[in-house]
Amino acid sequence: MKYISVAVDGPAGSGKSTITKMVAEKLGYNYVDTGAMYRALTYNFLNNNLKELDEKKITTLLESVDFEVKFDNKRQYVFVNKEDVSDKIRTAQVSKYTSLFAKSPAVREFLIDTQRNLANSNNIIMDGRDIASVVLPNADVKIFLTASVEERARRRVLDFEKQGLVNIDFEKVKEDIKARDWQDENRDIAPLVKVESAVLIDTTNLTIDEVVNNMTNIIKRVQLESN
Ligand code: C5P
Repeated sequence: MKYISVAVDGPAGSGKSTITKMVAEKLGYNYVDTGAMYRALTYNFLNNNLKELDEKKITTLLESVDFEVKFDNKRQYVFVNKEDVSDKIRTAQVSKYTSLFAKSPAVREFLIDTQRNLANSNNIIMDGRDIASVVLPNADVKIFLTASVEERARRRVLDFEKQGLVNIDFEKVKEDIKARDWQDENRDIAPLVKVESAVLIDTTNLTIDEVVNNMTNIIKRVQLESN
């Protein structure tokens, strides 16, 4: 049986994970969050006091890490040395260092097979930065989600507030997002890029439901054609 694969790329705060998760639920696909995998490895590096891009130390830590991605009820969980870190990896500190460690060739090499294998065993929607360009260049559907930097910062602040954090500095959040964009778009390997065949959706002035319906319709059409 041929499984459908959907690649969703875009910058931080473009709505990728919220929307992709909802579309996956509607269609009964597995939602694969590749950012969580980069975050989980970063969490392990930070726990081992590694805060710089030292390829040798990274390689040594990757050789000994027990890294697992599991699905329960279509939801993805990431485990590092048997610890479920799925929630712990959502801090500002982990976000900041993840963009740094995502530049490492050893880190990218370590994750790519896991990511590709997940697309061979289920209908999946995978989100990240290099899914259409590197991980699944033959994906059945490719979508690039974006939004203005102001709107993305506004969403991040709301996320933080939902987590109970107060006095969030909007300008600081905006600067952090810009810094992550710059690192993701300008790294040597697998930079964030919209491939030509991807459908561009600018979510700045769209509601979540509008984007979810738009994406679901695109995927359903392709699903019908491939049957
Ligand atoms: O999507 P999320 O914000 O959780 O991703 C965290 C970071 O992981 C990104 O800023 C990026 O540096 C890195 N990443 C990546 N390639 C992916 C997914 C995430 O480099 N496919």
